[in-house]
Amino acid sequence: ETFTNMNLSRPIMKGLSLLGFVKPTPIQTKTIPIGLLGKDICGSAVTGSGKTAAFLVPVLERLLFRPNKVPLTRVLILAPTRELAMQCHNVATKISSFTDIRICLCVGGLSIKVQENELKERPDIVIATPGRLIDHVRNSPSFSLDHIEILIMDEADRMLEDGFKDELTEIVQYCPKKRQTMLFSATMTDNINDLIRMSLNRPVRLMV
Ligand code: AMP
Repeated sequence: ETFTNMNLSRPIMKGLSLLGFVKPTPIQTKTIPIGLLGKDICGSAVTGSGKTAAFLVPVLERLLFRPNKVPLTRVLILAPTRELAMQCHNVATKISSFTDIRICLCVGGLSIKVQENELKERPDIVIATPGRLIDHVRNSPSFSLDHIEILIMDEADRMLEDGFKDELTEIVQYCPKKRQTMLFSATMTDNINDLIRMSLNRPVRLMV
């Protein structure tokens, strides 16, 4: 399998080669075609499997092929820690280098005020930790999740371990019901199953 067989657009192919990604990893081979179909995905995958690009490629393709006339935040990516959110932001920025997709990183440690101003511009993608995102949803009247089309929960087991269950539940409830959701987790515990039942709609289960 190659990225060429996946029918990806030119700018995304160029972004992948910028990162030196030539051949998809197993999780990318499985996730990208299903993600492109708009289906919900529940994936067991650990760090190092290449799952970041696995969910980012379908996200970026959708934004490119179904552009919006007005700026709207259409994708929300949640990660358990600031470091993971930053890594994801880094990969997303590189893969989207040849597009005009706008991405905002929203994590603790960065100025709330600066982020609030960035969010006001309605970036296409917001990459956040649950705690910081909840702050914005609750406190900034100009930011909402009303137009989210794709919700990604990365390392969901770690987000639950870190005590973010209530935040996650609240965030999922603020997103429109009609959306695509992709959840990744290294383990599948009872807690994770609750979150899956609450947030995913007939998900395709992928194991790597
Ligand atoms: P991730 O699991 O997404 O954190 O990715 C783990 C590592 O694999 C990162 O250093 C990526 O840059 C690298 N990687 C991801 N996909 C590919 C690919 N298709 N080819 C080569 N390296 C990759």
